[in-house]
Formats: sequence, C-alpha cells, structure tokens
Amino acid sequence: MNAEILAVGSELLLGQINNTNAKFLSKQLAELGINVYFHTVVGDNSDRLKSALSIAESRSDLIILTGGLGPTKDDMTKETISWHLSLPLVTDQKAMDSIEDYFKKTGREMTENNKKQALVLDGSEVLPNDHGMAPGMLVEKGKTSYMLLPGPPKEMEPMFIEYGFKKLLDKLDIQERIDSKVLRFFGIGESLLETKIEDLLETQTNPTLAPLAADGEVTLRITAKHASKEKTQQLIADMEKEILSRVGEYYYGDDETSLMKEVVKELSSKRYTISAAESLTGGMFQEELTAIPGSGLILKGGIVSYTNEAKMKLLKIKEETINTYGVVSEECAREMAENVRSLVDSDVGISFTGVAGPDSLEGHPVGTVFIGIAIKDSKTVCKKLNLSGSRAGNRIRTVKWGCHYLLK
Ligand code: ATP
Ligand code: MG
Repeated sequence: MNAEILAVGSELLLGQINNTNAKFLSKQLAELGINVYFHTVVGDNSDRLKSALSIAESRSDLIILTGGLGPTKDDMTKETISWHLSLPLVTDQKAMDSIEDYFKKTGREMTENNKKQALVLDGSEVLPNDHGMAPGMLVEKGKTSYMLLPGPPKEMEPMFIEYGFKKLLDKLDIQERIDSKVLRFFGIGESLLETKIEDLLETQTNPTLAPLAADGEVTLRITAKHASKEKTQQLIADMEKEILSRVGEYYYGDDETSLMKEVVKELSSKRYTISAAESLTGGMFQEELTAIPGSGLILKGGIVSYTNEAKMKLLKIKEETINTYGVVSEECAREMAENVRSLVDSDVGISFTGVAGPDSLEGHPVGTVFIGIAIKDSKTVCKKLNLSGSRAGNRIRTVKWGCHYLLK
C-alpha cells in the first residue's frame, strides 16, 4: 500500500503556517509500514482539489486529506469529495449528538451551519472527534481509500492516534503482524509522564510509543510488529507492564474508553447508585453520565444548586456553614455530598463547588474547586483542585477530576 497526504488550506500555500499535519502523518504511516510517496498541498478551492484528487488517485492507494471539514464556506473538502466520488452526504446521529454536547459543554451558541459538521459521506466509517466537532471519515471507492481528517493538529492528531491508526491497521494485508493498544492516563501531565518513561521513548524501536496530551488527559499508544501474532501481543503486554509499573497510578483504561465510561463500569460492578450536587458544573456531571448506556442503573438523580439560597433550600446546606466557611470550601463540599446522598438516597454522593471564572469568588482565585465524595459506611472525603484557564476548561476538567476520584 502506498499513500499520499493531501493537505487542504490556503494558509499553507500562503506560507502562514507549516504543514505539520503531513509531518505527523508521515511518521505515523511509517510505523504502519505504509510508504508515503507524495505530500500535496492545495488551497481552499473545489476545482483545484478535484484535480489534485484525480492525480492522487492515479498514483496512490491511500489518500489522507487534512483540513476543510469545518462549518465555514471555505471548508469544502467533504462536499468536493462527495461530488467527486458521487457519494451523498448523510447525517451521522452520533456526530450530531456530540456536536450538540460540545456546544452545551463550552457554553457557545450553536448556529445552523454547525449542523453541516455532522454530515458524513454515505458508507464511510466515522472517526469520532473527541477534541472538536467535525468527525473524520474513512471511505473506499474503487481501489482507493480516502481518509478525511480535520485541519487543527489538536483535533487531527488524537483522532489519528486513537482511531485512524487502528482503522488502517485493519485494512492492511501484511505478512508482518502489527498491533497496537492505547493506554489512557489522567492526573499526570504529558511532560511528567514523558520524563518517567523517557528511556523507553528514546530507545524503543519495537514496540514503539506515541504519547499525546489533550484536555488534561494523556494517551500512550504502543505499537508492536512481529510475524507471529502471539509474539506481537506479548511485546505489547510486556511494554504495558513496564509502563504501568512506573505510571500505573494514573492509568484508567484502554483504547476507546473514557473516564466516565470507567465510572459507570466501576459503580455497576459494585452495584452502587450515585447522586450529584452540582454548583459550578451546572449539571455537566449528570449530563455526561446520562450520555453513557447503563447509567440508568447507577444515577438516581441530583441537584443543581447555583446560588447560596438554592444550596440552602434544595440541598439543606446550613446557613452557618456558608457564613462561616463560604460556599467555596471543603466544609460546604462535604455537606453538599452528604446531603445529596441522603436526600436522593443513593450509595454515593458527589459534589462540585468552586470558581469557574472569569471572576473570583469569596476571595478565591479562578480555578479553586472542591469536590466532595460521600460513600455509605465510609468517611466523606474532599479534594481541592487548583485549576487554571478558561471557564469552559475549568468546568470540563472539574468533571474529569470528579470521575478520577470516584475511580480511586
Ligand atoms: P475548523 O473546524 O477549525 O475550521 P477544518 O477541518 O475546517 O477545521 P481548516 O479550516 O482547514 O480545518 O484549518 C483550521 C486550522 O487548522 C488552520 O487555521 C491551521 O491552524 C490548522 N491547520 C490546517 N491544516 C494544517 C496543516 N496541514 N498543518 C498544520 N496545521 C494545519
Ligand atoms: Mg475550517
């Protein structure tokens, strides 16, 4: 199999940005043993993209396109390919759900043209976008395979590492058996993780390691090659063991899982029910939990109490607690978790209170968050976070930390 990387974007031709996507993808394809024979760059122009596609088809088995999957007028990669391959665009419901979810999470307003991003080529395999909205695609027509990826590297790279790589692996007809596994970590920064496995990153040739950080999480893909399938799996298992002996405390799952999916698994296995008292997260924890099949057996309910008054009225937080310690406090978080647990009558109660930003609150800087966890027959615990960054980012990361502590 030989490949061509076709980067779409006038800013590349104008010299405004470097084509780092081609560099990244070439390295990834080399790991798969796929020869890359051409890098092509074309502007945001449908006719010129069509002619670039015709040339690429005449010389390459796999064409990987990046860019132009967004919602604006100059984004026309999908539409051009649809026309070129006579494949209609159809709405992908999963993509539509995750776009709506993305807007809810980031608090931005969804406009009509964003729905365009949920359109995919009929018959394509969809690659989820965990860090943006436009999904990727893999589609075959005749003897050529086309992979469409978004332009922004922070969306494209994790999409390829976590989903695209495996999809190509499945397509390869190779003597040498290549396999890969993605390990997921939370609570450790990329640089610390890399320091802890620096020697492995530098010296390993089989298996190879590809680390990637996004949205407070780090993933590490292990890729091994060997003629025997058993040996390939063994190489991966040995490397996984070595990595987990160093950074296992931050590991939470493999491949296509997520922190919240792991929470559902964990609570289900213990037959625990949960309830949530949410202030700065405004229901985001419960929204994410209910998005996962099986959550119906776990989540009993919850209370979104944003103002002090609502915390007292709905959650029965003592006025004295608020007056003495404030709502951004360990004491308040504990009481919120314990009260929601008893009000809803669940095994576990979790609470989120803090300062999402942009303004500080009760003299606490933006990003100060307390998470309370009350579990039946145990002592209530409270964790303090010192986050930094945007309001949207602080809320998203607060929910992730909540999941992390529930898994501990
Ligand atoms: P969006 O939804 O953000 O519009 P898109 O898939 O439509 O994504 P483009 O509009 O083509 O992608 O590009 C968006 C941004 O991604 C560019 O402004 C640039 O910063 C980055 N980008 C695009 N292509 C490349 C590339 N080949 N290499 C590096 N960065 C790129
Ligand atoms: Mg765009």
